Amino acid sequence: MSQRVAIIGAGCSGLTAIKCCLEEGLEPTCFEQSDGIGGLWKFTETVKEDKASIYKSVFTNTSKEMMCYSDFPMPEDFPVCLHHSKILEYLNLYAEHFNLFKYIQCQTKVCSVKQHSDFATTGQWNIEIEKDGNREMDVFDAVFVCNGHYNEPYLPLDSFPGLEHFKGRHIHSRFYKTFEEYQGKTVVVVGTGNSAGDISVELSHTAKQVYLSTRHGSWVVSRISRGGFPIDMIMSRRYTMWIKNFLPRILAAKISEKFMSSWFHHSNLGLEPKFRLKHPIVNDYLPSQILQGSIKVKPSIKSFSETSVTFEDGTVTDVDEVIFATGYSSTFPFLDDDIIKLNNNDVSLYKYVFPINLEKPTLALLGLVQPLGPIMPTVEIQARWATRVFKGASQLPSVKDMENYCTKSKESNNKWFGVGRAQVLQTHYIDYINNISREIGIHPNMIYLFLTDPRLAWQVFFGPCTPYQLRLAGPGKWSGARNAILTQWDRTIKPTRTRVLHEHPESWLNFKRVLVIGSLLTAMWVSRASLNALQSGYLAWPASVAFWSRIFSMVGINPM
Ligand code: NAP
Repeated sequence: MSQRVAIIGAGCSGLTAIKCCLEEGLEPTCFEQSDGIGGLWKFTETVKEDKASIYKSVFTNTSKEMMCYSDFPMPEDFPVCLHHSKILEYLNLYAEHFNLFKYIQCQTKVCSVKQHSDFATTGQWNIEIEKDGNREMDVFDAVFVCNGHYNEPYLPLDSFPGLEHFKGRHIHSRFYKTFEEYQGKTVVVVGTGNSAGDISVELSHTAKQVYLSTRHGSWVVSRISRGGFPIDMIMSRRYTMWIKNFLPRILAAKISEKFMSSWFHHSNLGLEPKFRLKHPIVNDYLPSQILQGSIKVKPSIKSFSETSVTFEDGTVTDVDEVIFATGYSSTFPFLDDDIIKLNNNDVSLYKYVFPINLEKPTLALLGLVQPLGPIMPTVEIQARWATRVFKGASQLPSVKDMENYCTKSKESNNKWFGVGRAQVLQTHYIDYINNISREIGIHPNMIYLFLTDPRLAWQVFFGPCTPYQLRLAGPGKWSGARNAILTQWDRTIKPTRTRVLHEHPESWLNFKRVLVIGSLLTAMWVSRASLNALQSGYLAWPASVAFWSRIFSMVGINPM
């Protein structure tokens, strides 16, 4: 009899968890408390309790080729960076294509997940659900926790003295939906995460004045990189990650910093981060809105009065509205506290997936990690690994080894990303998926690939690290992966080439590729030929008078 797996939530993590269970012969049941799939991406006009809420204008900041599931490319006519409604459409297409809907029970709330009395032997869980006002209990062999991490606003009131006296309105960004109510007003947006960036830019077009209050600053990068291609497809490449890991950290950090500040001098716009390797935010308009004066960047808020705020630099300004875009806390209300211990966002999970101290590895958390890259392929690979662990096809190390691993990876991450609430879960995307893909045995073998399929190998190593690379070999191999990789640029440019006058941009990429390979081969050939010439004494010939006389006579010049 196949193992029964409970999946809590039918967002982008829950959906792929269902599919991965089916691939491994497990029997999934997915519980979703709302009336449909999509989680965070299911926009609602009003904020619902216990459910993530997004604003109307959210667009993804990763591109469609990087953020899709590994065996299901997005339709070629989808834009490169997507409105939230398009992501929901994609998730519906995915669920339909892989026939996932029948495993989902909507409007069913998971109230508690507790270890079965025989947990030490069976690893089973008692799950209590509530549907139509009735409570039921059921037993499952394993559990996927996919309830999302943006349900609980983080708003440390003690960081903002005097807020209780402020007569204007203040909200957390979770409650922000559109700009209309803010027209003609003076607004302070607190934070410099992606929410703060997006919201301040949106308000700046119609508000009287927007102040962006940041305590640590942030790097800001654009979605668009050279040639008009998406930045993640240009930057997220295996060879750059390889160089980063090969170089001493200080040098790699310097290069990364150089890249982050290549668009504009962050210090000129007041955005320069205190910690140099901070995760960047993605925003195409923030610098120009600052240049236009519609957004003024300020330091932290020192205090509030009834009608104004005082910033740390001593300046005081009258304010109508404050939006705290101060992030979120993860919560797992259905789990006992000792299963997942969260300490200011810090959590001891083996590779951000498995609680370390469980006697049986039958509970996995998806999506808690914050990769410097797309989340959908990240949760997918986590789910592929976890289902194999549930099944017994892949083993976890001993508790001691897992603890040591967590300590080491935390130390290394602190060095890269800094120490802080927002930094504890950050990780390098390619390093992370490489790490998990080795657990499953699906890591592309580059030497073998270069020997057997150089064209594909070139794209895998030097091209964007698209999710299809995780379907080239091993369990879950997809026969369409090679073609998906070789056509990824076509799907990227298709939606934007709506007025075609010149050559296909990829021919420019091919031209550059040929140029690079050609130069490399020429350099190799020249060095080898020079060596041969040196050994045979031929190099004396170009330096001789006879040689130059011959050249001059050939072009019709008589130097005499
Ligand atoms: P976030 O990334 O956690 O950023 C929170 C911000 O609040 C940080 O700038 C942080 O400052 C600041 N902050 C926290 N506590 C503070 C305090 N006591 N005083 C002053 N500032 C404080 O939250 P978010 O921007 O809401 O984003 C949540 C997630 O959604 C992220 O993963 C984000 O990438 C994602 N998101 C994506 C999009 C998109 O794709 N377009 C849009 C919005 C959000 P420090 O940096 O100084 O710690």
